[in-house]
Amino acid sequence: ELVIEKVWKEYGDQIVLEDVSLTVASRAFVALVGPSGCGKSTFLRMLLGQERPTRGTILLDGQALPQEPGSDRGVVFQRYSVFPHLTVVGNVLLGRELSGSRYKAKLFGAARRDAVDEARRLIGEVGLSGAEGKYPAQLSGGMQQRLALAQALIMKPKVLLLDEPFGALDPGIRAEIHTLMKRLWHETQMTVVMVTHDMREAFTLATRVVAFERKRDRPEEKERYGATITKDISIWPPRLAGA
Ligand code: ATP
Ligand code: MG
Repeated sequence: ELVIEKVWKEYGDQIVLEDVSLTVASRAFVALVGPSGCGKSTFLRMLLGQERPTRGTILLDGQALPQEPGSDRGVVFQRYSVFPHLTVVGNVLLGRELSGSRYKAKLFGAARRDAVDEARRLIGEVGLSGAEGKYPAQLSGGMQQRLALAQALIMKPKVLLLDEPFGALDPGIRAEIHTLMKRLWHETQMTVVMVTHDMREAFTLATRVVAFERKRDRPEEKERYGATITKDISIWPPRLAGA
């Protein structure tokens, strides 16, 4: 369970988010929507631990989030999640190192073979079998995002954070990757928080849709106030949505 309580985020005198409270049940799939610039990515970076709230608390299973991203949280961004100079296998293995100092140690012998086996298994899971030795430049955009997913999943995160991961893909490819995303979510215990601009995507994948917006009741001072949660829609049945 992810508990966000009375969180504020300010940059200098700009209030980006104000008083955001949200409890995300384990295994939920939450889609986060809202106008451009309302603070969705900022919010996701706080869940990742890259940014700290100015006020308020974020707890994951009762524990404060560590300051650094940890192995319990995986992330996929719209672009640039994968490294051009590493192969597909190398990129998936890199997911271990990105996920916290505990795993930064180089692997040798049996431990390395296990990690490579796990990486290859995940590469198959995301539909990239045969591409193990290729470099990102040799992959399509959709394949690169599949690779980014495998990279985020190698540490079996409790929470997967997605920031418009499929936004740059054309509709056909996006539909394919939605099918993959549903399957991955059903097969794991993970909680997903996904930022998207695409309402159809939100309702296809999520069990709950949360909207951020600046409050409307004081438009004259709009810019001085941050965004907060203005809509919170549960999609029934949880967990079975889209099955
Ligand atoms: P989009 O839908 O366009 O991706 P968003 O909802 O993800 O927008 P954010 O990227 O979170 O919005 O930005 C929210 C606001 O916070 C913007 O006004 C942005 O300029 C500001 N902001 C974000 N990061 C920083 C930072 N590191 N320093 C200063 N201001 C920032
Ligand atoms: Mg954003």
